[in-house]
Amino acid sequence: MAIPPRVVASCILSASVIVAGCTVNSAARVAGWPELQVVEHKVSDQEVQARCGSAAAPGMRALACAQFNFRESRCDIWYAGRGPLNPFVLAHERGHCEGHDHVGQSAMERALKAYRERSG
Ligand SMILES: [Zn+2]
Repeated sequence: MAIPPRVVASCILSASVIVAGCTVNSAARVAGWPELQVVEHKVSDQEVQARCGSAAAPGMRALACAQFNFRESRCDIWYAGRGPLNPFVLAHERGHCEGHDHVGQSAMERALKAYRERSG
């Protein structure tokens, strides 16, 4: 099975749990995490849902997400441009781009490992 080159780390929030629903990033970076160029995209809420909402449970919506493209050494952050954005959200996504996964999670480490195995 082919693994898509882009891996999304979503910050999924419900309307009622704005900050608490967005888990805290680990202080430690994923070992061997590459330096990625961070590109931030202020887009419509609709586009955020389209790009980031795949992991959202019913009733939840994504406020932002970070997409890793290891091949291009690039990390795209997508966030909704309408309404005030909690600065915590952007800082959180930037943390993902720098290699910080959510506390207790290893999705980013697994994504990097899968990429390295694919590219030899
Ligand atoms: Zn996150």
